[in-house]
Amino acid sequence: MNICVIGTGYVGLVTGAVFADLGNDVICVDKITTKVEALRAGRMPIYEPGLEEMVSRNVADGRLSFTTDLGAAVRQSDVVFVAVGTPSKDNGETDLSQVEDVAAEIGRAMDRYKVVVNKSTVPVGTGELVREVIARHQPRPVEFDVVSNPEFLREGSAIEDTLRPDRIVIGAPTQQVAMTLVELYAPLERPMIITDLPSAEVIKYASNAFLAAKISFINAIANVCEAAGADVTQVMKGMGLDSRIGPAFLQAGLGYGGSCFPKDVDSLVHTAGRLGYDFKLLRSVAEINRERATHLVDTIRKALAPLDARTLAVLGLAFKPNTDDMREAKSVEVIALLDAAGATLKVYDPVAMANAKALLPASVAFCDSPYEAAEGADALILVTEWNEFKFLNLERLRGALRRPVIFDGRNLWEPERMRRLGFEYHSVGRRPVQPA
Ligand code: NAD
Repeated sequence: MNICVIGTGYVGLVTGAVFADLGNDVICVDKITTKVEALRAGRMPIYEPGLEEMVSRNVADGRLSFTTDLGAAVRQSDVVFVAVGTPSKDNGETDLSQVEDVAAEIGRAMDRYKVVVNKSTVPVGTGELVREVIARHQPRPVEFDVVSNPEFLREGSAIEDTLRPDRIVIGAPTQQVAMTLVELYAPLERPMIITDLPSAEVIKYASNAFLAAKISFINAIANVCEAAGADVTQVMKGMGLDSRIGPAFLQAGLGYGGSCFPKDVDSLVHTAGRLGYDFKLLRSVAEINRERATHLVDTIRKALAPLDARTLAVLGLAFKPNTDDMREAKSVEVIALLDAAGATLKVYDPVAMANAKALLPASVAFCDSPYEAAEGADALILVTEWNEFKFLNLERLRGALRRPVIFDGRNLWEPERMRRLGFEYHSVGRRPVQPA
């Protein structure tokens, strides 16, 4: 099939590469010339395990190409995927300007029947809006259909998630239109939900909001555990073994960040409000999440005051492990609060430091290793649970620190082990421990 994917971000680039790998002819479009030039030169604009190999293999085989010419790409395709950004406005509403711009351009370029597939996360009703914008911009009336095919990939495992999704959701106006997508996805042999367009759009928000609610729920339980002297990791195990609950997304920590959960929760609250329903539960989910960074910094302040006399090492900047994405990263909030309190900050992240530089205060020192960050610091703060941090040489780390104090925002280490290793160790929803 001839496919065009508009937007070469985390979703568009991975989708394009996977469809090419399945044997389709794929042309990926982006409006940023430097991005397209980099991709043509074999350089990935994002960090995603396995992506570079998949892209270069399919470019070499002639199935995958990149362009800034949206019109030409649309004209040579049967199916057009839209995977542009849908950020939120200050009031939580989704900013649909990128989707609307692309719909207008698709309309202008449409010369024969096409299926336009919306992969961007968009509020219920947007499929209808896209249909209307395309029709309005067509130079002459041409038949087309709009389909919703929301994306569920996770950054850091995007290729794997796209090849083996839990489900593929297809919201189409008719069974016949849905079959185009069924055919495209058939080689993956994964469960498919074929439904109407609005339901598909709601499935995406409901799923993300539910996962965000699980995270905020366990973080609220962590607060209770801290006050009661209980251990949230034990509570989580006890809850997670219940097959009705399950252990996924029940890790207490600094809360959720990234380009999806925060904006999708806000968007669903806004959409519900517009439709006449006050989604109080979700407003609380967002509120609990907002308090996480302040909660950690309050713990640090209590243990180390005055912060303006302290040097602190921060490990992990990306919003989660295995990505360079800094959008809505908790590190930004934690570092802003510590910087405002006058602390001197030294930071390290395996992949995200280049992206972090634009978002962190100019006074922050970027280090080449966790040990360099820890050197001479009064405490170490773990913000993102990269796997490599799990396997740090903790004795070497203790030797580098001026004081052996750790604030673990993700419960990466075991308190008893940290105590034996000679650390004062503070974590989330568990009793702090003092060195043996
Ligand atoms: P992104 O910001 O990384 O990429 C979007 C790309 O679209 C950018 O490269 C941008 O230059 C390009 N673009 C914007 N307007 C364009 C235009 N007129 N013509 C051509 N290109 C244009 O975004 P992303 O993270 O890939 O997310 C895309 C959508 O998928 C969003 O709606 C997001 O909510 C959703 N989503 C993201 C993830 C994720 O993990 N990142 C997961 C599931 C769903």
